[in-house]
Amino acid sequence: MMDDLFARSATCRQLSVILHQSSIPKDYFRSKLTIGLLKVVVTVAFILVLLLTGASHRLHDWISGLNANYYLQLTGYLLAFLMGYSLVLLGLDFYGDVILERRYNLSNQTIAGWFVRSVKAWALSAALAVLSFNLLYALFRLLPDWWWIAASIGWFVLLVLMSKITPAVIVPLFYKLRPLTDRDLADRLMALAHRCGVRITRVFEIRLSKETKKANAAVIGLGSERRIVIGDTLLDLCSHDEIEAVFAHELGHVALRHSWKLLGVAAASSVAGFYILHLFYGRLATAVGFEGASDIAAVPLLMLWIMILDLISKPFQAALSRHFEKQADLFILDKVEKPEPLASALNKLAGRNLADPEPSRLVELLFYTHPPIAKRIAYLRQASRLQAG
Ligand SMILES: [Zn+2]
Repeated sequence: MMDDLFARSATCRQLSVILHQSSIPKDYFRSKLTIGLLKVVVTVAFILVLLLTGASHRLHDWISGLNANYYLQLTGYLLAFLMGYSLVLLGLDFYGDVILERRYNLSNQTIAGWFVRSVKAWALSAALAVLSFNLLYALFRLLPDWWWIAASIGWFVLLVLMSKITPAVIVPLFYKLRPLTDRDLADRLMALAHRCGVRITRVFEIRLSKETKKANAAVIGLGSERRIVIGDTLLDLCSHDEIEAVFAHELGHVALRHSWKLLGVAAASSVAGFYILHLFYGRLATAVGFEGASDIAAVPLLMLWIMILDLISKPFQAALSRHFEKQADLFILDKVEKPEPLASALNKLAGRNLADPEPSRLVELLFYTHPPIAKRIAYLRQASRLQAG
């Protein structure tokens, strides 16, 4: 869930490049995809085991014996659930984050560093889950017929709050952030922002190199808390012209209000999702032997529903994101002298990118939040030729 919030607040996660490496074999992308699919399978299996063996009932009974308060029981159940879930996924997480990244020479992270980061991420997502589930279950109990409307409003408020605190509170928990030290470059980028009509007070440098060789630039946050950050790894790899073009792409996201639009879409889809839960979840919970929607032992069933709804919505989210990325790419055309620096930055990154530059069409449609790099370069070149002609 935390990943999701974080991902939604950062509209551009993926000018992700890998330094000091000329090309990544297809095997890497295949392994990443396999790990992602395996995680879904393991998650479903974990939930089904809890539900079908009666383990969820026994866990709930045990926690009920410790304390009579409903919300403390819910909190205890959630923490136990999330702890068990992380332990079940630990092997796959370690393989994906550490072993695979090291095998392809993409990581600068120590195992201790990975562990600390994982514990921090776990604590943060557990805190968020406890908060949002306590609110949700209070609504189940207080407004049995109308909870889905209140939950949609609550979810929207939570997303806005999370987006607002992400740059100043959450990102610094994981990365060091400081104003760009290269004054020439900073002046140039501020002037560019001014030309694009985007009001920013500073450009930030984010220290990614402690963990990874991959590079990244992104817009994080909303409104006055919004920050445009450039990874130190990207600063090392690209020329000033190229960084300016990448930055213009990020400004495009801001000028075209992509964060707000994504938030609007997330809000609309959460209304649909909560309404579907309202129609089916309580009835299904009762049908399979729980005491209705607010039965704590049925938490895994709710998690399963949320996961399925999320999986169904993913390809649509990805398509919208690809559309915005293309808009931001084309936004730069009349803002920098030529699109060539962005194309050359992308080209430079193509061989080293986190994402497969030419994935299969199906993989692109299902999972890619950015158009594949080969396509981005092709449409940039075509658009600039049209502009020149
Ligand atoms: Zn972008």
